Amino acid sequence: MGLFRPYSWWVAALLVLIAVSTALTLIPALLIGQIVDEPLGPDGPGAADRGRMTLLFGAMIAMYVTSALIGVAVTYINQLIGQGIVFDLRGQLHDHLQRLSVQFFTSTRTGEILSRVSTDVNQVQRSVTSTFTESITNLITLSIAIGLMFLLDWRLAVAAVVVLVVWIVPTIRVGMHMSRLQREWSEEAADMSSQLEETLSVSGAMLVRTFGRQEFESERFQRSNLSLRALAIRRMMAARWFNMATSLFGSVSIGVVYWFGSQGVANDAVSTGSVVAFAVITQRVFQPFAAMARVNTTLLSSLALFERIFDYLDRSVEVDEKPDAVRLERPRGVITFDNVTFKYNLSAPPALAGVTFTVEPGQMVALVGPSGAGKTTATYLLQRFYDPQEGSVSLDGHDLRDLTFDSISGAIGTVMQETSLFHTTLGDNIRYGRLDATDDEVLEAAHAAGLDDLLENLSEGLGTMVGERGFRLSGGEKQRVAIARAILKDPAVLILDEATASLDSRLEREIRESTALLAKGRTTIVIAHRLSTVVAADVILVLDGGVVVERGTHDELLALDGLYATLYSEQFATVSSNGA
Ligand code: ADP
Repeated sequence: MGLFRPYSWWVAALLVLIAVSTALTLIPALLIGQIVDEPLGPDGPGAADRGRMTLLFGAMIAMYVTSALIGVAVTYINQLIGQGIVFDLRGQLHDHLQRLSVQFFTSTRTGEILSRVSTDVNQVQRSVTSTFTESITNLITLSIAIGLMFLLDWRLAVAAVVVLVVWIVPTIRVGMHMSRLQREWSEEAADMSSQLEETLSVSGAMLVRTFGRQEFESERFQRSNLSLRALAIRRMMAARWFNMATSLFGSVSIGVVYWFGSQGVANDAVSTGSVVAFAVITQRVFQPFAAMARVNTTLLSSLALFERIFDYLDRSVEVDEKPDAVRLERPRGVITFDNVTFKYNLSAPPALAGVTFTVEPGQMVALVGPSGAGKTTATYLLQRFYDPQEGSVSLDGHDLRDLTFDSISGAIGTVMQETSLFHTTLGDNIRYGRLDATDDEVLEAAHAAGLDDLLENLSEGLGTMVGERGFRLSGGEKQRVAIARAILKDPAVLILDEATASLDSRLEREIRESTALLAKGRTTIVIAHRLSTVVAADVILVLDGGVVVERGTHDELLALDGLYATLYSEQFATVSSNGA
């Protein structure tokens, strides 16, 4: 109902037009009755008033034409409302999904989301536009028709009403059955699109090939495919059987009207014209009647669709911006983790537990620890992908929860191991760091990030398409794009995730040089894998199981001879020997 609210005036106009147009299609039945009765008058056919007959005929035609024209206007208004609602719904859904926490995206399949935003919303449009007007049209038609029936002959009218009421029961049952099928169909379709999304993405396609699982995937796909086919046929056939029953019922009813009617004429109880008029109305009633059954089924099926869409829309935004959030104009880059405890799931052990540290502007902190220690999680909390359950993360003394999203994202730049690129040109991917950057600035950033060699090799330079998620670039090149982006953005805080894979020594040195240049003068948090980084860090935090177990400089920690010393001998010494 809320979705309809902005269109209430249009809905009102629609109601009036539909009422007028419906009346104009039903009243001619009475005119037909009068035309038929004219030559059957008591004075015989000779006394028939031909002028009146022609006039009635003309009026009938005029009514049909007007009603048809109004029908066109109804369709237009209907589209305005239906497409408007879908426009709003799609926009709301998109914006709401953008605001949902990262948790939502890590726990939902992309294909499922796509399926709801595109397929389900489109189906809703179809049912809103058709269902909505159809139901109104049909309700009005039925009411007017029943009124006219009573006007003509109350006994026949009562019989018709009884039949209509009895017919409602199977209609509702079929509707429920259809909506069940619709829900199953939507779920299966979403499954299929998730599967397609997974196996037909670049990484998925490679994975399938690596393991030679084409056949396995084909079979998996075939299962969804088969089940979609079966569901679609079942849905169609359920509708068909029902329509068949309804139209059969309609035809038989007209027969019944004539049969009863002719008895009435024989007994001189009704006029022939009334019987004809009644038959015409009966015919008109069964159309909307069958349609009502259809509307009921589409209505219930679209409720199933709405359910899926509102499931997303009603999800609360866990990580939200406060209405009075503070805007940081010039972030200095003081980062404070104050007794931060965070769990991804409330039932899981904490990924970070009681983590406390402060980084002053321009300082570099190295996060070190075994895999799964919580290093990446700390960088997520700093970007407010999640809120900690206990303690606080703050920037320049403001709890992140009190800052605008723009302040946080504006203050922080990242260069991660996995660089996400969009399927567009290299230049546009770099420009994502600052949308209003000029071509020269983009080129300069690319140069500073060491992308010159790559640019020389690409025929179209910055205009080259990078391919889905940047698969046309090497790992080192992607990281350089990330560096170039960060250079353009010029953030106060930099988060670096050093490559674990050993790059060749020249590349490694070059990337280290460009990141060092980038880190200069910024508060830097680095997930460190290289000896040179930990040696240069102002402070090293050693994480284990989400807890800071040691902290200090490289030399202090070595002297401590604890976890860091072990990690050092296992990890940094080896990586660095083939790295730097
Ligand atoms: P590190 O970066 O030190 O390797 P992470 O911060 O990635 O460690 O992970 C810390 C812990 O949190 C791990 O036990 C990991 O399994 C868990 N974890 C990471 N991401 C998620 C997630 N999205 N949902 C649930 N658990 C997660």
